[in-house]
Amino acid sequence: MKRKTGMHITAFRAFITACYESKLSPNRIGQTLGGAILSHGTHARDGEFINENGKRESYSAAVDIRINDITEQEENRLMLRMRINQFAVWRRNAGVFSRAPHLHAIYIPLKKKEILDRQVEDFLNARSGLAGHRTDWFWTAHEDEALLDKLRELHQTSKSIT
Ligand SMILES: [Zn+2]
Repeated sequence: MKRKTGMHITAFRAFITACYESKLSPNRIGQTLGGAILSHGTHARDGEFINENGKRESYSAAVDIRINDITEQEENRLMLRMRINQFAVWRRNAGVFSRAPHLHAIYIPLKKKEILDRQVEDFLNARSGLAGHRTDWFWTAHEDEALLDKLRELHQTSKSIT
């Protein structure tokens, strides 16, 4: 599968791995770098990298994943494998998101803009990453302390990337 423009190459590889491990098609990447109104700037540019053609390319560390063709059980499996592959990931399917349910994910190791750093911090505290910062009841990684510690460390390291 071809990488979608605006998704960092290492994030793309991690996502492909997560899909392979959860036995689901990776052909479900929605918004990468973009300005969708409901995203409130979270998908704006985070930085740039050198792409497959040796060219500079802007990326957003945030990516939306389509879930309309999979069951809730498959979604859970994908979310777990994405977390193991270093993504913060939430299910966005209620309220304003109910018309276009998706997973909103952030590849933690990348340098991120402030709004994404704050969302990742919310994630590490089992919260929604939305205004209100409610407890995310779908979040189960907090039961895995070793995984959580690793993700915290990756997030700290990412903040010192210049
Ligand atoms: Zn999103």
